[in-house]
Amino acid sequence: MKKSQRPIPAQNYVPAANAPSFWECPGCGFLSSDVMLADAATPCSRCGASGVERRVFPNERLRHLDERIRAYHSESESEIVVILGATFLETLLEDLLDRIMSAHGADVAVRSMVLDNVRAVGQRIGRLFPQLTAEEFEAAALELGFRDFPKRWRRIREARNAFIHDTPYREAPGGLDESTALRTMELIDQSYLLFVSMNNRFVADGHRGLGPVRRP
Ligand SMILES: [Zn+2]
Repeated sequence: MKKSQRPIPAQNYVPAANAPSFWECPGCGFLSSDVMLADAATPCSRCGASGVERRVFPNERLRHLDERIRAYHSESESEIVVILGATFLETLLEDLLDRIMSAHGADVAVRSMVLDNVRAVGQRIGRLFPQLTAEEFEAAALELGFRDFPKRWRRIREARNAFIHDTPYREAPGGLDESTALRTMELIDQSYLLFVSMNNRFVADGHRGLGPVRRP
């Protein structure tokens, strides 16, 4: 194995104890970690709306999945951490794409049809995301300060797929080991911030409900 092909060890990374909390303005979709926004009287810093109850992100469903993954990680169940972690990241992407479409006026029927037609995560990233945002996922991640995220996420998916489909995986000869699990935990922790940044860029962008999706 060439030096450059070796997996990057996620040494010394200590995963967060639990998922972070953000508050969402139901008016414009803006997400903020500012605890002041939990109070409905605080005006949204993006659209100024107040007096409406703020939703919490991540929702119960994601928070539950996050808790399960962290519990498996503390029990050193590396294989389960990577498989569930990959699923978690794909769920987060689906939620983001759904929110972007919703913000640009697509109703539930259209959104589920689009997501049903593009099931493969690679196509959702490579084709659907740029169609909806007029930007490549990698470029948007880079711009928001998450340059390595797409590449590292791809490695986790490849490791998971190789394990599930029993195909040789050149970068993870040890299978879904402790190091891969730790890298998965690191990505999960980062994914919340990436989701919030992309949400605030492409969902809470002032276009909510105003018309069709912008075309590149
Ligand atoms: Zn707002």
